[in-house]
Amino acid sequence: MLRQLPLRQRIRKGLVFLAFLSFPITMNFLSPYVIIDGAMNGIVNGSLIMFGLMFVSALFLGRAWCGWVCPGGGIQEMVEPINRKPVNGRKIDWIKWLIWIPWISIIVMMVIRAGGYSSLNFLYHTENGISVAGAPDRPIVFAYFIYYIVIALFVGLAIIVGRRAGCHTICWMAPFMMIGRWIRNRFGWASLHLKADASACADCKKCTSNCPMSLDVNSMVQIEQMENVECILCGTCVDNCSKSAIRYSFSGGK
Ligand code: SF4
Ligand code: SF4
Repeated sequence: MLRQLPLRQRIRKGLVFLAFLSFPITMNFLSPYVIIDGAMNGIVNGSLIMFGLMFVSALFLGRAWCGWVCPGGGIQEMVEPINRKPVNGRKIDWIKWLIWIPWISIIVMMVIRAGGYSSLNFLYHTENGISVAGAPDRPIVFAYFIYYIVIALFVGLAIIVGRRAGCHTICWMAPFMMIGRWIRNRFGWASLHLKADASACADCKKCTSNCPMSLDVNSMVQIEQMENVECILCGTCVDNCSKSAIRYSFSGGK
């Protein structure tokens, strides 16, 4: 029998599911290709603005985007009942940097070649506002092809490798937030994070077994050190702890 989720987690799951349903509309605003195309033509476009906003949001909210509103996260959580296997982040987390660093280098090279950014068009390649509707110079089938490739990658990895495996390996958006979080942690201004009280912990390890990012949350609680670059601040551990040993906090400090 399916266990009823705590209210906050039902809301969160609903939000990431809605984000996934909206992905045919929003895809180009999160696209790793459209930002390159914009760079080649010196155009600040929707995806560049969105990635910039992810970086800025991480300065205060860490990776809450990933936990609460990302379509990629939503589709992976939807298929989680098929394969609940935790992934070994230590073995695969580096892969996304192997993708991100060359990708960012290409964008920077293209902007330099174009002589810098010279115009702004938020709806670049999404002129009518719906990503899968295609663009004037591109057939609709091309947009759907890209859409299904992205879905297949995230779904395939989650089903074959395990929980949110796409977030650990192929996500081109996560590094923007990880860098934002790293900067915040250097300065220690007020931001959203988790706090733990090891003395309240009953060592049941429900936090670890339920973490969608496969983190060893129980060990983090024992040393009261909840900061982890892969934590998406989804609050699953908070809401599964019957002893209230983990809680959200919005405060400063390193
Ligand atoms: S890691 Fe990437 S795909 Fe996963 S939730 Fe974050 S932004 Fe979305
Ligand atoms: S540690 Fe808690 S808040 Fe962070 S990803 Fe895991 S369950 Fe979510």
